[in-house]
Amino acid sequence: MRTTQFILVLALISFVGSAEVVFARKVVNKAVNSTATLPAPNANNNTSGGIREVIPDKYQKRYQEWKQEFLSADIARQQWDMYAHNSRLTLTITISDKNETGAGSGKYKWNDAGELIAATITLGSRIDQGFPTAVYYPVMNALRSFESPSFSTGHVLAATKLAHEFGHVMKISTTPKDLYNLQVQLVPVYNQIFLQNGYNVNDPRLIELARKMGGNPVQIWEDREYWGEANAMLFLRDRVAKERFHCRLFGKIKQTVDEYAKDYEERFAEIARSQNTTSCNWK
Ligand SMILES: [Zn+2]
Repeated sequence: MRTTQFILVLALISFVGSAEVVFARKVVNKAVNSTATLPAPNANNNTSGGIREVIPDKYQKRYQEWKQEFLSADIARQQWDMYAHNSRLTLTITISDKNETGAGSGKYKWNDAGELIAATITLGSRIDQGFPTAVYYPVMNALRSFESPSFSTGHVLAATKLAHEFGHVMKISTTPKDLYNLQVQLVPVYNQIFLQNGYNVNDPRLIELARKMGGNPVQIWEDREYWGEANAMLFLRDRVAKERFHCRLFGKIKQTVDEYAKDYEERFAEIARSQNTTSCNWK
């Protein structure tokens, strides 16, 4: 943790509750971290539609294994087919050795009618390893404690990361182009003011910016991440339905959502309620 973050969090602990500390830590983390800015829209003109897999030869084998794992879940197969047969949107999937255990989505492009026509999912070359932090990734993180003979945690983790990215693309396709572009434009402005005003989120300039773009940068960012996680959970719902630890995994997700993502609980609860079994419902 950087010194400025540490001091702020320490100062906050002395007079606010833990929920506020978590929030303040999130604000500072995102504001000082360049990833708080959203990826800029892309200028490529590839609009033939369908899924375009651009996988270097050296990663073909592992990619096919991860993809097979992803497609073993009913919901993932439906989502894949939806994009494979989409004549408007070209979804590119590629693998990079930058950010090896992570993944990302971007290079979004819209047509004049405001429809999303291009998006790219970039998978790290080692996404079968590395469990992201529970604070922002309650679903992927929950997998760390589960293993069984019919369940290769590495492959399932990789497929869950792919599902998380599909969640981003699905959410972006329902986000108005103008709102997205406004956020791309205003998030750096917000962060600049925040860093200069002594981290005061009550600054009227920041309140006005947040109103315009539908939330402060952390709220925008975590809402997007938790949509990714909701789709990751949808994938796991179908993938682990027959595993003995099914209910325990969902219990672990619930515990983490309660702790760090209470404001976003409903989207996870809805998925839990949609299970075919009633044996481990989200209480
Ligand atoms: Zn994400």
